[in-house]
Amino acid sequence: VTTMRAYRGFAGDPQPRLVELPVPSVGDGEILVRIASAGLTYGTFALQKAGRLKPMPMTLGHEGAGIVEAVGRGVTTASPGDRVRIHPTLSCGRCTHCLTDRDHMCWGSAMMGFVSFDATVPDYARYHDGFLADYALVPERQIDKLPDNATFDAGAKLHYMANAWRALRVADLRPGATLAILGATGSMGVATIKLAGFFGVSKLVLIGRSSARLAQVGALSSVPVAIVSTDLMDEDWADTGALPRRMAEVAGDGVDAIIDYLPEGGAMWQAASGLVADGTFVNMGGGPQAFGFSMRALVGKCWKVAGTRNHSRLDARQILRLMGEGALDIEDLITHRRPLAEVDAAVETLTSRTEAVWMSVVHP
Ligand SMILES: [Zn+2]
Repeated sequence: VTTMRAYRGFAGDPQPRLVELPVPSVGDGEILVRIASAGLTYGTFALQKAGRLKPMPMTLGHEGAGIVEAVGRGVTTASPGDRVRIHPTLSCGRCTHCLTDRDHMCWGSAMMGFVSFDATVPDYARYHDGFLADYALVPERQIDKLPDNATFDAGAKLHYMANAWRALRVADLRPGATLAILGATGSMGVATIKLAGFFGVSKLVLIGRSSARLAQVGALSSVPVAIVSTDLMDEDWADTGALPRRMAEVAGDGVDAIIDYLPEGGAMWQAASGLVADGTFVNMGGGPQAFGFSMRALVGKCWKVAGTRNHSRLDARQILRLMGEGALDIEDLITHRRPLAEVDAAVETLTSRTEAVWMSVVHP
């Protein structure tokens, strides 16, 4: 085989295309992975449309798992035939962040098939291509062995699970905590619901706009669930305090932490009034809105406010460990599977939001 298919973004064109490319040849310290499953993420296509993925052209997709096809000289930790997942975050490996379980915050970090936050990342020039392709060329250190009982789909979507794992760590939960999730019906929401039990959460409060979709995702939980849905409130709920009142009904003592995945939650931020003293507000949505509280409220309640994005290598390996032990199965989170040949249609389903997509993969 000398050519392969790859789903590529091109400069100045909002529409990626499935094209033929030569299969890359492995150099020293490199591994060629035959991709078996690659995840689709909403952010990839939003950034592609906005012209923010660089450098172009680029093979898209930062979630991938497959089988080692070939290894370059000097590779000692993997052999052809190994089942692996690819860690897409490149980092320098030497700075204080990298040495203290914060490698995703390294100033020299970039994500294969996605984005470089710092254009000077040396490895990104060679390894910016992602995994929506028949093959991917990666440095040896980016490979993790996949446990025998983890599917390739699970290996690909491990990325979201590890993001949620990190968000839960940042929430700093005490045993028996009540946790509220804003944006519970999206991919990050369902990942968090699936993992909450590992953090000793005793109750989940799921906040969103659709009571039907919230009930669906609530069924994934291993801990008791309460639903706060704006479609069950009067239309002027944003002005009447209906959301904080409903929060008080379902969590009378308040919630110990809120994880907010909404990119633009509007008045949903009012849920923060349900936080207990010393509670933690975690945001991963990263929207343009300002945090709607005075410093007086912050100090009076001793609240902690934290941002989070991506995850460390250790977070990813914790998810792998749970999968390997049989403690975590995410097959029921993967609602959409298609062949790579139908990637355009798969992306359309994901980005049009006409149906509930929890997690979506394509198979080369
Ligand atoms: Zn670093």
